[in-house]
Amino acid sequence: MVRRAYESVQAAYAKLGVAPQWPVSLVVENMEIMGATQSRPGGGHLIHVSLRAAKSEMLAGLIAHEMGHIARTEARHPSHNPTIHDRAMARLRVPPGFRRGFPRLAHNAINHVEDIYADDYAMTVIGTDRAHGFFAEWVGNAASIAAAGTRWDEVAGALDIAFSLGNLARHRLLRANDPLRREAETFAKTHGIEALDALTALFRDLPDPVSDAECEEILVTLLETTLRELQRASA
Ligand SMILES: [Zn+2]
Repeated sequence: MVRRAYESVQAAYAKLGVAPQWPVSLVVENMEIMGATQSRPGGGHLIHVSLRAAKSEMLAGLIAHEMGHIARTEARHPSHNPTIHDRAMARLRVPPGFRRGFPRLAHNAINHVEDIYADDYAMTVIGTDRAHGFFAEWVGNAASIAAAGTRWDEVAGALDIAFSLGNLARHRLLRANDPLRREAETFAKTHGIEALDALTALFRDLPDPVSDAECEEILVTLLETTLRELQRASA
């Protein structure tokens, strides 16, 4: 079943002209997240699929998402270039009290940017029927984790929500009166996140094509905004 899903997704990517050129392996294993991909430049890609995802209706969607990362990595898209990530990180002035925790949160934020560019392909290939329900669940999860959490959880939740709404809006899947907009507004008020709208717009409007320098600037803006929200006390 996994093989069949993989082959149909690969055929769809070939039609787009962005099928993987490097060898791809796929393992199904017990893990917490749904899926992930490791790439070695010029070497190949290893897609990890969780047991849960392998048995679910989301399987083709997950493989399409991971293949989106693969296509962006092979194309050396700036969003998937670790050198650009490092350059953006090096430009931040992270106060001492935040230095231990910040890299992980920054990694999440950058990962959301990668996910947007991966999904631009994935949504073309797999369609958008399930997208709204999928991201609505993300928004709900973010809200419940933040409700019981620290400022780090609140800001991580805000990034998840901004990513989800931004991604939906990017693909015209967020109506003007969509209840998710209200949920986001409530979240921003409850947790004192002033930049939620700006973050959502950043994800929605990520340009493509994008130059290395432009991408670096966007990441700096994203990370500086994240850092500012962290330093603001919760509401
Ligand atoms: Zn991803």
